[in-house]
Amino acid sequence: MTVVAIDGPGGSGKSTVARELARRLGVERLDTGAMYRAVALRALRTGTPVGDEKALTGVAREMVLELGDPVLLDGEDVSDAIRGDDVEAVVSTVAAHPAVREVLVSRQRDWIAAHGSCVVEGRDIGTVVAPGADLKVYLTADPSERARRRAEDERAVASRGRGGERGDPAVVRRSIGRRDALDRGRAASPLAVAPGAVVVDSTGRSVEEVVEELWGLL
Ligand code: C5P
Repeated sequence: MTVVAIDGPGGSGKSTVARELARRLGVERLDTGAMYRAVALRALRTGTPVGDEKALTGVAREMVLELGDPVLLDGEDVSDAIRGDDVEAVVSTVAAHPAVREVLVSRQRDWIAAHGSCVVEGRDIGTVVAPGADLKVYLTADPSERARRRAEDERAVASRGRGGERGDPAVVRRSIGRRDALDRGRAASPLAVAPGAVVVDSTGRSVEEVVEELWGLL
């Protein structure tokens, strides 16, 4: 059984690298960010205040989430909706509540136990969710490259009909900067390099190069 934990800030290339590494290993990938995004989306849709920890914990516990492609929340395809500006604006506030994290961490550990070998990506995988992972990676990249990658992702979503005027690197840079500050500064499981994690800088490198490096570490 091989568990790979990949943590890092937004736009560091986590998702792309995790997807490609999982494909090469022939295992499933768990995108834990999509879980926090799904709670945020459901909260927005049901008018649940993002400061109401108790209500949000209920949302996290009750939502029926299928994290394949597409991502299904209570049976509806929300793959693009969870990447919208409205979700982006509140997800880090939702994720800062310890009780919400407790529910999602427990769901993530169940998922890992059920899948055996897997690649799991997020912010607290190496520190909290799976500290015993066989390989722990902290993926990073310089801020302008991260903003450029996120802007590309946003343009892809916008081209599918959602989001309107999105994908401006300057706007994206402010948005991920804000989210990073909240994710690093929160009291509950802040974004941090896990003990024993390998720090990999993806700036100026292709997905293949980074995956090759991780492959060599396994
Ligand atoms: O990875 P992604 O950018 O989709 O994550 C969205 C947000 O979810 C992060 O900014 C963070 O606030 C939260 N998150 C978290 N812990 C994780 C994964 C995501 O707090 N393991």
